[in-house]
Amino acid sequence: MPVPMNPERRAALVKGASRAKIKALVNLTACTGCEVCIAVCPVPSCIEKFGEDPTSFGVYVNYDICIGCQLCVKDCPWDTIRMVPTPSVAGHQTSLDSQPNHEHAVFSRPELVPEEIRAFEGKPHFDNHQVKDLFQKQNPQVPNIMGPK
Ligand code: SF4
Ligand code: SF4
Repeated sequence: MPVPMNPERRAALVKGASRAKIKALVNLTACTGCEVCIAVCPVPSCIEKFGEDPTSFGVYVNYDICIGCQLCVKDCPWDTIRMVPTPSVAGHQTSLDSQPNHEHAVFSRPELVPEEIRAFEGKPHFDNHQVKDLFQKQNPQVPNIMGPK
């Protein structure tokens, strides 16, 4: 479980992150849950993990405190994270809200993530061509991963 953050520290992080022009988006389809991104992210609790069994491995990024530094993208061993323009994920609380499909186990088992970030529950998947294109480039071996545009 994430360690609760000092409110002043969190407020400072949110202020800094509000200026970020890009945010990190994890492709859950390919994430192995290895936690390398969590280890390299300089912002505490920015990336969090859900699921400890192979059917529900995955992490999500908290967009309110992601400062767009790109360290996670550079170090992910599975090339599973992309930076996307902040406006393309506007209104999304976490990268779970920005998944172009809901095929991952977390969408049928929302209890895997904290209740306060289950904004994805009952919502259709995120339909944004700009983000879909990024995901498609990320997974060229799976040509139909995002479905038709
Ligand atoms: S480093 Fe990449 S594969 Fe590993 S948990 Fe993070 S996003 Fe997933
Ligand atoms: S871009 Fe930087 S702050 Fe955002 S999730 Fe990745 S490592 Fe953390």
